[in-house]
Order: sequence, then structure tokens, then C-alpha cells
Amino acid sequence: MSAIFSHRAISYSSNLRRLSSNDAIRNGLVGMVGRTPLVRLNKISDETGCEILAKAEMCNGGGSVKDRAAYFLIKDALSQGKIKPGGTIVEGTAGNTGIGLAHMCLAMGFKCVIYMPNNQSQEKIDLLKTLGADVRPVPPKPWDDPDNYNHQAKRFADSIDNAVWTNQFDNRANRLAHIETTGPEIWNETNGKVNAVTFGTGTGGTFAGVGLYMKEKNPDVQMILADPQGSVLYNYFKNGKLERTPGDSITEGIGQGRLTENMKGAPVDDAWPVMDVDLLNMTFRLLDEEGLFVGASTGLNVFSAYQAAKQMGPGHTVVTCLCDTGQRYYAKLFSRDVLQSRGLLDSLSEKYHKYLH
Ligand code: PMP
Repeated sequence: MSAIFSHRAISYSSNLRRLSSNDAIRNGLVGMVGRTPLVRLNKISDETGCEILAKAEMCNGGGSVKDRAAYFLIKDALSQGKIKPGGTIVEGTAGNTGIGLAHMCLAMGFKCVIYMPNNQSQEKIDLLKTLGADVRPVPPKPWDDPDNYNHQAKRFADSIDNAVWTNQFDNRANRLAHIETTGPEIWNETNGKVNAVTFGTGTGGTFAGVGLYMKEKNPDVQMILADPQGSVLYNYFKNGKLERTPGDSITEGIGQGRLTENMKGAPVDDAWPVMDVDLLNMTFRLLDEEGLFVGASTGLNVFSAYQAAKQMGPGHTVVTCLCDTGQRYYAKLFSRDVLQSRGLLDSLSEKYHKYLH
């Protein structure tokens, strides 16, 4: 194993160089982390007179914004000597981080164990298994219950040799990924012409990392937090109270019940809630107008960017990201029956109904 790994370790270090260079050739899957296209969303840009730009994070090798964090979490464990070649990466995750980690584990020579609440979609469980992960669905429990899936993940990692719980929510290697890659990419690709940046948050890694980098470059860049229904962060940043907004969002991977270590100290200039009806219509608008097939957290991000652009007026540049593709949510988000059962079908513009199955 060590011989195999020493070969891998060489490509691993050259990946680090490639991440910061302009080489056209990417070094394997790990080399496919970052340097995603910055896409102008043409119709909403033309309508608002702003440049509304989005990092196309589905272009990372594992297909989502969480590949950046997955890579940095493993890199952190390696550099701190918490794991050695052939070891086991353990994480509590309901989705994209697990998918990213599973891809990285195959490419970098680790085993992968994923704890997740057992109410998650079968597609995600199947995909993680296909990617070689040992998937352990457990009953959903709140964070302060010792049997919450994250705490179970930690206990398991502690119980076996050469294993690490990567702890995406509170390990700041997550936001470091965005301080070192996403932030600089946005800054360089826009030549520093950015007026506002907006994202929804799950762990908060993307928001905090990009925000900290932007403020370092230019404190005038407005960082706007977009929060889905049922999350506490809008109330926290507006009124100082960790109180949920009403409702339960159709989005996955975003919304929070607490302030994570990754989110602590994040620069938040403004925060607003985004309703499911608005993010849903934006998700389908992106499909209809731009041909972009994205998930609901992307609908939220882009709706928020559109709102920021309208508020700031023509001539501004607003940046967000496209988190992943609609394929991951095909059975739910694009289903007439599911939207009907959640009371969302009637609020989806009639012209988008042709995209439903
Ligand atoms: N969108 C999706 C689909 C996600 O899975 C996540 C991460 N859970 C996010 C957005 C938010 O990313 P972050 O954890 O960096 O806040």
C-alpha cells in the first residue's frame, strides 16, 4: 500500500502546484478541484443592467461546490498526521460532501465511511455506495443528541486505527478551501470588480471563506447571506437570535440550526430569507432561459443575486455560485407530484410545468 501511496503522494503534491497555475491539463480527479468557469447569467444580467456572475461548481470533478472542502479536509488530516496512507475518512453528511469525499478517497487511496440520517433520498445512498463508500444510515436526531449522525461518525472514527472524522461543520479547513481557491478565483476572474457576493450556507464554508478573502481585498464588497425557510441564520444576523424562520424548505444542503465554527467571524453585511416559491421559480428560469440544469440551493443563490442586483441598480457586479446539478434532485424537485404535495405546484409559473415529470 505504501508504494502505491507514495506514487499517489507525488501526484498529490503536484496537484497543489496545478491548483494555482494556469496549466490546461488537470492532474487526475484531485486536479479537477477548483478553477471552475465563472458564468455570466445573461438574461437576468441584461434585465437588471448588472453583471450577475456565478461560479459553475458542478464543474468540479465530483460535481459540486463541496469538492473543494472535501479535498481540503483530507489535505488537513494528512498534513496534521491524523491519517496515513490506506486509512479511513469518516464524515457525517447527507450529500455533496460525502460524494466529494468518496471521489477523493478513491483517487487518493483512502477508505470512506459516511454516516447520514436515514430519511435521505435513496439516490444519494446508491450513489455513495457506487463510489465505494460504506454508507451507514442512522435515525435522524438533533445536534445536541449524542446519537446525531455527526457524533456517531466521530465515535466510529475514534474507535478504529488510522481513521479521521473530517468534521466539515466545525473544521475550518473547510472554509480555508474557499479562502485559498474560490475567493482568489472570483477576485482574479472579475479583475477585482465585485460589488456584492451572495450565497446560502450549509456549513458556512463557502460564504465565510469567500467573504473573508473578499474583505481582505476590498472591505466594500457586500457579503449577503441568503437563508432558506426554517433556518436560524437570517434571524441571527438580523436580530441576534438563533430563531428559525417559519417553514421547511425544499432545498437540500443549506439552512442551519446553529452557528458553526466555519461560520463564526464570517463578514455578513446583509441577510435575507429566500422563500421556496422564489428559489423554485428561479431554478426553472435558469433551465428555461439559460439551459442550466441546477439544484434548489442554486435557485436560492441566483434569486438572491438577482435581488441584490435589483436593489443596487444597474452597473454593479454580483457574484454567486451554481452549487450542483438538477440531476441530484431529479426525483423530487422536478416531480409534479412532489411539488403538488408540498403546495408548491400552483406557485410555479405555468410556463415551467413542461419541465416536470
Ligand atoms: N448547496 C448544496 C447543494 C450543498 O450540498 C451545500 C453544502 N452542504 C451548500 C450549497 C452550501 O455549502 P457550504 O457547506 O459551504 O455552506
